[in-house]
Amino acid sequence: MIASDESMISVEDARARILAFFHRLDVERKPLIDALGQVLAEDMVAPFDIPPLNNTAMDGYAVRAGDTTGASDGSPRSLKVIADLAAGYVLETAVGAGEAVRIMTGAPMPPGADAVVPFEETDEPLRGLNEAAKRSANVQVLKAAAPGANIRFRAEDVTAGSVVIPAGRVVRASEVGVLASIGLTHVPVYRRPVVAILSTGDEVTEPGKPLLPGRIYDANAHAVAAMVAKYGGIPRLLGIAKDTVEDLTLKIREGLDADMLVTSAGVSRGDFDIVKDVLAREGTVDFWTVRMKPGKPLAFGAFKAPDGRTVPHLGLPGNPVSSMVSFELFGRPAIFAMMGRGDWERPVVKAITRDAVRNMDARRFYARCIVTRGTDGRYYAALTGPQGSGILTSMSAANALTIIPEEMVEARPGDEIDVMMLDWEHAP
Ligand code: AMP
Ligand code: MG
Repeated sequence: MIASDESMISVEDARARILAFFHRLDVERKPLIDALGQVLAEDMVAPFDIPPLNNTAMDGYAVRAGDTTGASDGSPRSLKVIADLAAGYVLETAVGAGEAVRIMTGAPMPPGADAVVPFEETDEPLRGLNEAAKRSANVQVLKAAAPGANIRFRAEDVTAGSVVIPAGRVVRASEVGVLASIGLTHVPVYRRPVVAILSTGDEVTEPGKPLLPGRIYDANAHAVAAMVAKYGGIPRLLGIAKDTVEDLTLKIREGLDADMLVTSAGVSRGDFDIVKDVLAREGTVDFWTVRMKPGKPLAFGAFKAPDGRTVPHLGLPGNPVSSMVSFELFGRPAIFAMMGRGDWERPVVKAITRDAVRNMDARRFYARCIVTRGTDGRYYAALTGPQGSGILTSMSAANALTIIPEEMVEARPGDEIDVMMLDWEHAP
């Protein structure tokens, strides 16, 4: 079935139609580090308190606060040191009146003690740097300690049985840390999608092979594969299909064990018919013209895999910048949806354009630009060069895309515009 749609549709409309085809994938158990960027499928519950016991936040002396009342440099309180306690060890002996335990950060508080006096508030530093000299049968406390001083209390971070990280949260470094702290080695997360990527076109050549006259190297499959990997998916390169029904059919079938198939080129007028024929026989497809620049032609459809699954297909335009921008706007949300992530929206900030940006054909203009922060604290956007949709180096120089609305004919230098940040790392 073919539903050719000649009228232009908005980016939002195209994205909504696409996202309707995607749902989150099944759950897998992954080692913690490998789950980075994936979404937790279950609430993570703490099996015990953190910290598990009251412990000291400082190196110092565990004391009974009452024994230090009134202590000062001029009037120290002398306490008997009954033990030396390192982190990782528990002392059963209680600290009695007039007694102290030399204690290291993280060591559990011994019974009887209710405060910790840091070394700096005792005479220990005055005894010199020599390890043996630091220790003494008695310690002089030079400052009064309030009850509870320098103690980290049991369960002050996490209570046993509470949810430390809820289902739906993306695993970042801090989640890895929290999950490790409750003793986990593996976590249940939504699986990463496998994305099969196919370039089409008689002129397209695999990098590494000799380049015949009139041919070009395949930029699209590799750029898209890199985006898939960066956004959390698993790219699978299918190679390059010639502009023939037979080759295209063969290569597309090879990709049907993936969760999604992405093709590039063949969706604009010139090649339209071949792709259309193949897609019409192997599945369903819509050809759209999206009100955006770069990019305009876009195909979206679904194939029936031999195992009965429906494999969504995103057909990107051939021009390398169009292909990347289209994948950014439509492929990235699809990957996020399969991973159970709803946060695909990029940050959009206001920036002052340094250049004139002309927009003559009533499409939304995603011009490649570099956004930097001025000394006045505001963001500034400068175009990264010629905006032809074949000029990939100006994509490489960019960290953002302008969002010039469809109806805006020109943004003049000094005007405030919206920019969509692709990459904060490169915004110096
Ligand atoms: P098409 O969509 O087939 O009309 O292609 C539009 C333009 O993109 C043409 O100049 C193609 O040569 C170019 N193109 C198509 N596929 C690729 C590719 N994989 N890498 C780089 N450029 C491509
Ligand atoms: Mg072509």
